[in-house]
Amino acid sequence: MDELLNISEALKEELKIRTKAAKTSFDLWFGDLNLTSLTEDKAVFSTPTKLRKKILSTRYINVIKEGLEEIIGFPVEIEIVSLDSDDEFNKSTSSFVSNNQNEENKEESIKKEKQIQQILKDNSEKKTILDEYTFDNFVEGESNKFAKAACLAVAKYPCEDQNPLFIHGHSGLGKTHLLYAIMHHIKKNRPDLKIIYKTCESFMNELIESIGNRTTTAFKEKYRTADVLLIDDIQFIAGKESTQEEFFHTFSSLYESGKQIILASDRPPREINPLTERLRTRFEGGLIADVQPPSFELRTAIIKKKSESLGIDLSSELVDYMAERLNNNIRQIEGVIKKLYAVTSLTGAFVTKETIEQIISIVDPGNIPTSALIERILSAVCKKYGVSEEDIKSKKKTENIANARHVAIYISRKITDLSLPNIGKIFSRDHSTIISSINKVELNIKTKKNYEEEINNLIKEIKIV
Ligand code: ADP
Ligand code: MG
Repeated sequence: MDELLNISEALKEELKIRTKAAKTSFDLWFGDLNLTSLTEDKAVFSTPTKLRKKILSTRYINVIKEGLEEIIGFPVEIEIVSLDSDDEFNKSTSSFVSNNQNEENKEESIKKEKQIQQILKDNSEKKTILDEYTFDNFVEGESNKFAKAACLAVAKYPCEDQNPLFIHGHSGLGKTHLLYAIMHHIKKNRPDLKIIYKTCESFMNELIESIGNRTTTAFKEKYRTADVLLIDDIQFIAGKESTQEEFFHTFSSLYESGKQIILASDRPPREINPLTERLRTRFEGGLIADVQPPSFELRTAIIKKKSESLGIDLSSELVDYMAERLNNNIRQIEGVIKKLYAVTSLTGAFVTKETIEQIISIVDPGNIPTSALIERILSAVCKKYGVSEEDIKSKKKTENIANARHVAIYISRKITDLSLPNIGKIFSRDHSTIISSINKVELNIKTKKNYEEEINNLIKEIKIV
């Protein structure tokens, strides 16, 4: 919590300089802006009113993003929520309330909803990714046992035998969690070691910036003096020649001086393409451990642990039911449980199979594989707006094409669990363009009549097999 507070304070100082706003207007917009949670790719801020949320999200979002990234050192998506109940999350929970309760109970529900928001807010202030992703909180099963053991060994004995440690597995299976767990462990037991954690993307951005600012010496110095270097989502290095070149030298220099390197990727080294042979050999030269999709037993254990930690009472029959239904991705399981928590706290309702089904249909539309889902998004959006897939992926900016592109990006973000960079790859756009597309659609939903319905109809169409 202190950590978030410190970041909030540092950010305000940064914003004072960047916005050059007068004190009164600064206090008005930023005075009550608080960072409530921070993960490796997203920062959520809260502000008291809808108006402030709107102004901050339209006029100041970029400066907040830049200021925050300067402080934390990696790129994040920014979300601003207002405490008077108009954000995404509130919307989905309120629709549950209004569907499930009659008019006279509505006021009571709204009151409850506010209380719940407060609980959630308190919760997220206390528990951030920075302290939650530990070995203790990592539930072990056959599918991740080896990877966990490898990470624990490196955390206990960094810079010894296992170098580099290369963890791979599909998205949402716990790789980033394990990298953070290693960091926590080392920070606690070996505070003398200098640890650097970067996503591949922010490593690349930093490199490009250093070339632009002619500060490559400082960049090299920074990385080559690390004792432990962790690079997450290293698969994004594919095809980036100058980053591969620089990373090769960083890698070799650290490796030769016996420093620990840990890499995580959504695929094994041989499937990262194009990748120079010398880097591939380096990646394969240490210990490779994979995380596999969770077995039924592991899913059950995770559902139990996460629901218990939120105080949700689930019968073992329902736990089994969820484990059957959510059968590949742990991130999805978490998503469903968090929504379940919100919905049941609000309505005070018992959890039933129907509630679970309703939530799964929001979080996990039809368990359709992501690639198939993307194809369907593209074809539905193209049909609706009368454009072609090439148009969507092209640089064309005519209004209709740009709108179709924003909608396709927005829906991809909403109904798949692809990361922003991965969505960027599909649409041949960088990560900040993806965020701005999403923001545009969100703004249209708020300001244009029938726009939300249009999008929801498209989503419905995409989800029907
Ligand atoms: P990846 O980096 O592989 O895409 P993450 O590490 O981000 O996946 O995991 C997604 C979510 O699932 C995180 O919130 C993480 O804490 C949770 N998670 C993944 N594996 C486990 C596990 N074995 N035990 C508990 N939580 C897990
Ligand atoms: Mg990850």
